[in-house]
Amino acid sequence: MESNVRVRFAPSPTGPLHIGGVRTALYNYLFAKKYNGTFILRIEDTDQTRYVANAEQYIIDSLEWCNIPFDEGPGKNEKFGPYRQSERKELYKKYADILIDSGWAYYAFDTSEALDAERKGHEEEGKTFIYNWHNREKGRLVNSLVLTADEVQTKINAGENYVIRFKSPQDEILKMEDEIRGNITIDTNTLDDKILFKSDGMPTYHLANIVDDHLMEISHVIRGEEWLPSMPLHILLYRAFGWNAPKFAHLPLILKPVGKGKLSKRDGDKLGFPVFPLAYTNDETNEVSRGYKEDGYFADGFINMLAFLGWNPGTEQEIFSLDELVQSFDLKRVSKSGAKFNPDKTKWFNQQYMQSKSDAALTDLYLPVLSEKGISKDKEFVQKVVSSIKERAVFVTDFWDLSSFFFETPTEFDEKAANKNWKPETAQLMQELAQVISNVEDFSSANTEKEIKEWITAKEIGFGKVMQPLRLALVGKLAGPHLFDIIAMIGKVETINRIENAIKNL
Ligand code: GLU
Repeated sequence: MESNVRVRFAPSPTGPLHIGGVRTALYNYLFAKKYNGTFILRIEDTDQTRYVANAEQYIIDSLEWCNIPFDEGPGKNEKFGPYRQSERKELYKKYADILIDSGWAYYAFDTSEALDAERKGHEEEGKTFIYNWHNREKGRLVNSLVLTADEVQTKINAGENYVIRFKSPQDEILKMEDEIRGNITIDTNTLDDKILFKSDGMPTYHLANIVDDHLMEISHVIRGEEWLPSMPLHILLYRAFGWNAPKFAHLPLILKPVGKGKLSKRDGDKLGFPVFPLAYTNDETNEVSRGYKEDGYFADGFINMLAFLGWNPGTEQEIFSLDELVQSFDLKRVSKSGAKFNPDKTKWFNQQYMQSKSDAALTDLYLPVLSEKGISKDKEFVQKVVSSIKERAVFVTDFWDLSSFFFETPTEFDEKAANKNWKPETAQLMQELAQVISNVEDFSSANTEKEIKEWITAKEIGFGKVMQPLRLALVGKLAGPHLFDIIAMIGKVETINRIENAIKNL
């Protein structure tokens, strides 16, 4: 049965979703699923100046790739819809008016020049300008707390620009509780009277966010640490409306791999890793940013890695399926301090997931790569190849380098290895070996190994004298899986062909 737990991921569609945003979505998802609750997607697009058209679809596609779909949101179970704030525009003014009527908000007509002058004046005296009771009724500022009702109305009727500000309380120590950070107190005298509503008819983030969280019956607000400074205002807004506030949990930042500060796209560019789940094309500049999906990461491994950026289960276990994450996730085990991003660990997770995937599933991923190269081999053959190389692979994109010799005669030979292992007498030896191989009847890996080794022993020469050049001939370098497995896979004709090819070219 559905519980009362209702959480939301509320991104602003201003560009591609950073992995920090994906982690916020993931924690919301895990929390919702753990408590049989509902995971909601709400698009916070009230700031038209920062709106980017393809960003919403990008966010939806990202959640889908990560396998953390929303239960309610744009176009899906629109029980409390619409879920795009721009489509709820009409609603917010009513709530701003409620606060004006109850005295919790007021009209302010100050121009940006006047506010700049205030700021400057304060700075010159070594003070910080705060638009709250310290200044709001001093007469220099123009708002409905100093003007008469008639004066206010005249200004509004004359079409003067105004904003609606929240009237933050004076001399109060506000006590708040965060699920991750515990008790937090703040002196309300340090709070600005934040703008709730702008004269362009749009609410600010603060008003829209609170109204929607209330109307959508959100039980827990789980979001990034950058929103912690907004928490006092949000708590005060709930109080002003006479609504119960949801519980809050502010997640730690994801930090740069080296140095200080928040992980940025620039860090990824510099150190060579993506910071976005999917590749993203900027419509205006045509700049393409890399994505985890396109870079060959498995979604489940990526999610597992993200879950550990700020949370840990308190045990040694690191590999968790999505279901296991749901069972184990606990806000109480989310850390307060920032989590350093580790690109190597991301690769490590991918490698772990690679090993746990079935050969059949990996074969399905490899077949299209091969067919793009014009190679068509039956699935059974490719699956055997995959099974022999996956141990050494981090990405499916590594497969070709690790296995091209299963499909193609090498055209190049590792020079260093050839100098060291292909001696003047080797050609003659390989010629004899080709003869031996042509006489092998049972061409299984075990039998060719037995017969070739018997021949080497009978010749009383070191194994390396034969095996190394043979590997060079078959693979082109001294790498790859068990040599006799390769021989059995490529077959007698191709094995002899490659030996002859090496004799000719080395
Ligand atoms: N729209 C805000 C963002 O872009 C939402 C913050 C919140 O979750 O309250 O992250």
